[in-house]
Amino acid sequence: MTNVTKFPLLFVGHGSPLNAIEDNKYTKGWQEIAGKIPRPSAILSVSAHWYTQGSKVNDAEKPRTVYDMYGFPDELYKVSYNVPGAPELAKITKQLIQGKVEFDNSWGIDHGTWSVLCKMYPEADIPVYQLSIDGNASAEVHFQIGRNLRNLREKGVLLFASGNVVHNLSKVDWKMDGGYSWAVEFDGYIRDKILAREYQDIINYTSAGKSAELAFYYPDHFYPLLYVLGASEATDRISIYNESCTLGSLSMTSYLFE
Ligand code: ZN
Repeated sequence: MTNVTKFPLLFVGHGSPLNAIEDNKYTKGWQEIAGKIPRPSAILSVSAHWYTQGSKVNDAEKPRTVYDMYGFPDELYKVSYNVPGAPELAKITKQLIQGKVEFDNSWGIDHGTWSVLCKMYPEADIPVYQLSIDGNASAEVHFQIGRNLRNLREKGVLLFASGNVVHNLSKVDWKMDGGYSWAVEFDGYIRDKILAREYQDIINYTSAGKSAELAFYYPDHFYPLLYVLGASEATDRISIYNESCTLGSLSMTSYLFE
């Protein structure tokens, strides 16, 4: 056997949870991606919203939908994304990761995952499981965990990382369509580094200077990107979707590796 097919990798800028109940340019971009890539056998989601002490993986048969957002319209809390889980793949994933990982079903499918997947795969018939982001680990460690997950690509698993390259909620302007200059600058800096495959500069993102200081105060939404970069190969073709900033201080820019 030669030429084992490697499944695509996806980093999605998820933005506001309201995207789950809206049809807009971002949700169109997500639908376009789903239409372009082969149908995955399962989806491993690394969501910014499962930010834990230590690495955890969900191995539930039926993971619950988690409504981890507050103060939004009732309609949003009625969205359910009742997908099957992937306990066997969770076991394999735990084994692939070199550091310590624990099974943990206290969480489920959070809005970082379902607000996007309900647009990409509305039938909710593809198994989904989540891997948490260890808030104590360094950027380098997150990148290395991504590297450990490379083999999943040969099993038809979509590594789906959901966050935002720029995510500074304290500066959100709900009436603004574009981004502040520093948001656009940091988003562009990361885009250029991705396209040049200079991933060490992304791990050391503070080298971007002032824009990195404002892009986020906590790296929870940034770290998912590192999993995709770690799992990628030099031969992957990179496509960019939804390249833009919104609400002033969020970036929606998404990257597909295939
Ligand atoms: Zn989020």
